[in-house]
Amino acid sequence: MSAGNFSSNITTLVIFERDLRIADQKALAEAAKSGPIVAAYCLDDPLNAALGGAQKWWLHHSLVQLNDGLAEFGGQLTLFSGTDRASAIAAFCTLNQIKKVAWNQRQSVLGRDGDSTLVKKLNLQGIEVQLYSSDLLHDPAAIRTGSGGPFRVYTPFWRALEPRLPYFKSEPAPESMTFSQATGHENLDGWNLTPKAPDWAVGLGQSWHPGEAGAHNNLAEFLDGALVEYKENRNRPDLVGTSRLSPHLAFGEISAVQIVEAALKRQGRVPGHDLETFLKEIVWREFSYHLLAQKPTFATENFNPNFDRFPWGKNASALRAWQKGQTGYPIIDAGMRELYQTGWMHNRVRMIVASFLTKHLLIDWRDGERWFWDTLVDADPASNAAGWQWVSGSGADASPYFRIFNPILQAEKFDPNGDYVRKYVPELAKMRAPFIHKPWETPEIELISAGVRLGTTYPAPIVDHPTARNRALSAYKTLKEPQ
Ligand code: FAD
Repeated sequence: MSAGNFSSNITTLVIFERDLRIADQKALAEAAKSGPIVAAYCLDDPLNAALGGAQKWWLHHSLVQLNDGLAEFGGQLTLFSGTDRASAIAAFCTLNQIKKVAWNQRQSVLGRDGDSTLVKKLNLQGIEVQLYSSDLLHDPAAIRTGSGGPFRVYTPFWRALEPRLPYFKSEPAPESMTFSQATGHENLDGWNLTPKAPDWAVGLGQSWHPGEAGAHNNLAEFLDGALVEYKENRNRPDLVGTSRLSPHLAFGEISAVQIVEAALKRQGRVPGHDLETFLKEIVWREFSYHLLAQKPTFATENFNPNFDRFPWGKNASALRAWQKGQTGYPIIDAGMRELYQTGWMHNRVRMIVASFLTKHLLIDWRDGERWFWDTLVDADPASNAAGWQWVSGSGADASPYFRIFNPILQAEKFDPNGDYVRKYVPELAKMRAPFIHKPWETPEIELISAGVRLGTTYPAPIVDHPTARNRALSAYKTLKEPQ
């Protein structure tokens, strides 16, 4: 492995993965400096199988955008696939007589394992490998407490990272690039990443602009708008109070360094607490990767092994009602329908629906994690697992077992006028706040005038809140009993 800056005639194969951008793309920048390149994306079978439907849709459009971006430099994105990543890339190198390969390592442990197999295979073929990193602000395994161990709690992790934030600097796009021709290019449409019949992705197309330009537009809009009241409004699903950068970050269309840098440039122009709250959220993503680095099986196993004996129930019809947004709790149904229609859900609502699934329905957090994985455009191996484990209580911090979100109070507080519910649950659109958040407690006359017939036009609640709460408290208490 080596990193060289001199120019040569040796072509470097640059493999894109979750860094589908041209600026602040270390592997691309270094390869472009050293000579001609082949820019490529490899879809291997395990990756194809692991991607959720919403992310497949995003990937398709992001690859189109990246190809267009490279075309502006006179190049193109070469696509190839194979049964596994290492064999596919090695075979592509043989086909094109490539002697040098560069890519940005993903900072997840899973990514690293894949990388080491690939590096060995390429080295055996006498191919030079250049590895860089541009996924996170910081190598998650390298951040340590004063005593040298990993962090389990967020606040000290933030304190350790905060002083370093001003020192992360992004790199501009290469000024120019020289491209070599490659054979073996596959047709993107042949990868069947977008749904055809039925085309359930119409709502995704209306909600998002995948690609580097879309990411930077989102960032600019956010910095000029919602950032100014971020601390207050970020909890309001009825407002556009957050950046909506998560899918762009998940695909690396923008880097965390670029976001932090741009946000810090606003210092003095936006209230300090809003800026700090936003930076803290970016660092939550880093913390999730820090936890994943500690526990590579974070997405499937409890971080806290005490939860291995938690009495999760199986309830297929309740799970289905939750997935389809038919629980009879308007805020839950609005969130689950927002997810299904747009591939995204507001963070506050993610917490409410996750609490409802794990506590009100006592369904295993892994069932929820999997559904989110399939339907979220921003599905992320670290943040999704961290979110679910934090809410269910099985995560790194010792959260109190009695933290059970009350879906009615949460809705009244964070969707005070009911606009969010009205948008995604049109059957309730004519109901007034606060009734809209609890139709089952609404006087009959009010329901009639809103055209709502409970159990017919909109479901009655699938569980009673106080009963479900008590049942969850009893279940969580079993964890405290001696074995
Ligand atoms: P903003 O508020 O604008 O925040 C900026 C960025 O900070 C986000 O884009 C994201 O990268 C990061 N961030 C914000 N909050 C968190 C958080 N709590 N944890 C980690 N990073 C955060 N986020 C994902 O990116 N992918 C997931 O698969 C995912 N699954 C989640 C599952 C559950 C059950 C919960 C409770 C949260 C999950 N989150 C996930 C975190 C959070 O909900 C989203 O990152 C956020 O809603 C994205 O919207 P935004 O870009 O407008 O966020």
